[in-house]
Amino acid sequence: MTKRDYYEILGVKKDSTKEEIKKAYRQAALKYHPDKNPGDKEAEEKFKEAAEAYEVLQDDQKRSVYDRFGHEGLKGTGFQGFAGFEDIFSSFGDIFEDFFGHRSARRERGRGSDLRYDLTIELKEAATGLEKVVPVEKYEHCPECGGNGCEKGYQPETCAACGGHGQVRRQQGFFAISMPCGACGGSGKTIKKPCKRCKGTGRELKKKELKVKIPAGVESGSHLRLVGEGEPGSAGASAGDLYILIYVKDDPDFERHGDDLVTKLRVNFPQAALGAKVEVPTLLGKVELDVPRGTQSHTLFRIKREGMPTLHGKGRGDLIVQVVVDVPKKLSKEQEKLLREYAEAGGEPVKKSGIFGSR
Ligand SMILES: [Zn+2]
Ligand SMILES: [Zn+2]
Repeated sequence: MTKRDYYEILGVKKDSTKEEIKKAYRQAALKYHPDKNPGDKEAEEKFKEAAEAYEVLQDDQKRSVYDRFGHEGLKGTGFQGFAGFEDIFSSFGDIFEDFFGHRSARRERGRGSDLRYDLTIELKEAATGLEKVVPVEKYEHCPECGGNGCEKGYQPETCAACGGHGQVRRQQGFFAISMPCGACGGSGKTIKKPCKRCKGTGRELKKKELKVKIPAGVESGSHLRLVGEGEPGSAGASAGDLYILIYVKDDPDFERHGDDLVTKLRVNFPQAALGAKVEVPTLLGKVELDVPRGTQSHTLFRIKREGMPTLHGKGRGDLIVQVVVDVPKKLSKEQEKLLREYAEAGGEPVKKSGIFGSR
């Protein structure tokens, strides 16, 4: 099944603002919402399609990858769209809450925030893979209270105002609106005796260095997800994840096309005309290329398995060498003499040399 263009799905322009995109998505979500179209498969697909488009376009990072590389590029980032309604509601619950007066589903309560770290690497590093130490500053559970925020011997208590739900419901006309409980701040717990070290927050800011293995063959725009390396959750909830976004710098000598690399190689006219064995620098070394007799400028040669390694595979792309025939700008006396003889032998006129030579 071919995927439709995300802008087309939402009916927005390429340069639409986030606000316009959000508005368009709301309209689509309202129209195709499963509550309004029970059992309608087509509406269900449209609803999912719109959610996926919105997920990408509302996120600057994903949007720019999509703008540059399309659906294919997003695959490299590990983006997979949504498995089902649960997924959609847990991601955009707040939008539906605005419109439907209730939250259809939501993320695990108290789950820690995800963190993001941008990492730029060289093309050579992408070819070999590497280990990097990534400095992260993040909150961790307070070592004194273990994260519950209470002094030793005490436990958090269930909030009396919301009964531990963290949300209170308020009736407004037709709709019941859920909002975070003011008494406990949405956590569902209250603390009588706060821990002195963290003042009841249960968290402490820590600097940490994480060793990250970046696999060979990684592409620009892809990400690594370190599960549980985000911020800790509150009261037993799971920690968030750390996303490492990888940017591969352009290389001055090698252009990347998937797993293949393209490079230019300059040879001179006699080498091209008579053939020669020449040395070609590869990304990580060099190889010999047999330039056959009579090679024309800009001819492409494919050298097997000298490109980028295939991500998570054993294969390798190829190195495509474009041979460019150089015309000499300076000639020695001897060279000039021979070249003139060569031209004469071919019977093709050239400019005469010397002060009176130019016509
Ligand atoms: Zn409460
Ligand atoms: Zn503490």
